[in-house]
Amino acid sequence: MSSMNRAPSSHRVALDAVVIGAGFAGMYMLHRLRRLGLSARVYERGDGVGGTWYWNRYPGARCDTESVTYSYSFDGALEQEWEWTERYAPQSEILAYANHVADRFDLRRDIQFETSVISVHYDDASRLWRVTTDRGEEVAARFCIGAVGCLSASVLPDYPGLEDFQGEWYHTGRWPHRAVDFRGKRVGIVGTGSSGVQSTIAVAKEAGHLHVFQRTPNYSIPAWNGPLDRAAVSALKANYGAWRERSRYAQIGIPFTPNGKQAKLVPPEERERDYEAAWAEGGFNFVMAYPDLLTDLESNRTAAEFVERKIRQVVKDPEVAKLLTPNDHPLGTKRLCVDTGYYETFNRDNVTLVDIRSAPIERITAAGVKTRDAEYPLDVLIFATGFDAITGPLLKLGIVGRGGESLNAKWADGPHTYLGIQSVGFPNFFMITGPGSPSVLSNMLMSIEQHVDWIAGCLEHMQRKGYDSVEPSRDAERAWGQTVHEVGHGTLYPHTDSWYTGTNIAGKVRAFTPYAGGVGTYRRICESVVERGYEGFEFSSTRVAAAAS
Ligand code: NAP
Repeated sequence: MSSMNRAPSSHRVALDAVVIGAGFAGMYMLHRLRRLGLSARVYERGDGVGGTWYWNRYPGARCDTESVTYSYSFDGALEQEWEWTERYAPQSEILAYANHVADRFDLRRDIQFETSVISVHYDDASRLWRVTTDRGEEVAARFCIGAVGCLSASVLPDYPGLEDFQGEWYHTGRWPHRAVDFRGKRVGIVGTGSSGVQSTIAVAKEAGHLHVFQRTPNYSIPAWNGPLDRAAVSALKANYGAWRERSRYAQIGIPFTPNGKQAKLVPPEERERDYEAAWAEGGFNFVMAYPDLLTDLESNRTAAEFVERKIRQVVKDPEVAKLLTPNDHPLGTKRLCVDTGYYETFNRDNVTLVDIRSAPIERITAAGVKTRDAEYPLDVLIFATGFDAITGPLLKLGIVGRGGESLNAKWADGPHTYLGIQSVGFPNFFMITGPGSPSVLSNMLMSIEQHVDWIAGCLEHMQRKGYDSVEPSRDAERAWGQTVHEVGHGTLYPHTDSWYTGTNIAGKVRAFTPYAGGVGTYRRICESVVERGYEGFEFSSTRVAAAAS
């Protein structure tokens, strides 16, 4: 680990930039800051790099964007030398990749691990950010970059009695750094989102008996994961640049070949063939089968019915199949799950699905989980209950901007950003994949790189022009907020209860905050903002106050 791993407390340093988080966003940001000749420090609460892939070590964790796509594209040699082994990489391999990148670009010497940022205050007089940590440090920096991820603030249900539980319990997003032994044990999993689906499949193979506590069934599409074909990878690598370029301008940052038809207008037999082909491709290919599946309810229903038939074909017990069939939301409006054998798992003798919609969990007891109808004795209880997504990690930082205004107060009615990159009142504070950008609707690595490159370009522009401060205009932020709202409401997402809309968190304002117009459209907007002299951003320096050049 880095020599900065444990820094002395209570001292002040001045830096050009502080980056919060050493996941893929913070790592690449550090690399770009160094290339600009800027001094930077990254604070990371874990004891290693990798962010999401550092924390989410639960059994079965793997990425559901394909490995050749879910990887950095900024360095040709890195891209060529790294060998992914499977179509969808397991968590351990992605974490190994993150560590490889940290070594290769000598990142660790500027990352301070095991350090949480507890406040981020803008000092109006010096125009610097003062960042304090749980180690008692305070650093001053011109720029502060939140690279905290969209899914890093894990949430536990507020059932009474957890402190009484005599067994072991875990949250998937805070998995311990040691193997958890399920052999012969009575295990319970609460939650059936992506983390619940993946851990269910893995835990069922080991546990004595597994109870899956399901409140809302979700749609899951087979991944058809397997070893990568080396010849196909070599062919891709021979032309990786073209593949990446297609990804950059594709709807979700993954180059699917679009089928221009409206699903509802396609004759049923042809549509069935298309869905079978998309199902056979697996993963997000399925929801890309027709471009209107996430915008037109009738079209969406045709895809949903196809998946519902598949569930009934796989799951032997009709009652269990019925319980596993989603019934309260259009397909894909809760984040799709991608699996290898999820529905099949419910045919196992050692797996029981418990419907906690009809008989809710009332409390955790010393012995296990008590629902309205029964008590389930357990040795291990796993909470796959998700995250305070997108805004949660930023709002936990204690950010206070110009004039003492906190980000939490400003965003009390939902986030306000320009392009998901900056927010008025927080000069020189940048977000990577912030609310108002495609973020969670896209291949995150591609969106991370796009934001980091954009921010680095902006800082370079400021260096050239002698500016030391940048912030959006109120008009630009208001107009972008309106665009995000309108584009979002042209889709089916806003009407579903989900972490996309914030309804999984008690008291959180309901808002669908990602930009849903697609990665390619968004990238072009960001490019045109730059071409128009950073339209909507206001730059200034201690010497000259100026509007965008
Ligand atoms: P999630 O999608 O928010 O799922 C949480 C689950 O817990 C839901 O089934 C939810 O039910 C249930 N739940 C929450 N609170 C509950 C309560 N009090 N009582 C009973 N059930 C409760 O969280 P996640 O599975 O961790 O996934 C979050 C996101 O992370 C994913 O959507 C995905 O974007 C990402 N992720 C990706 C991968 C991958 O790439 N393979 C893997 C894991 C996660 P309700 O629906 O009824 O609220």
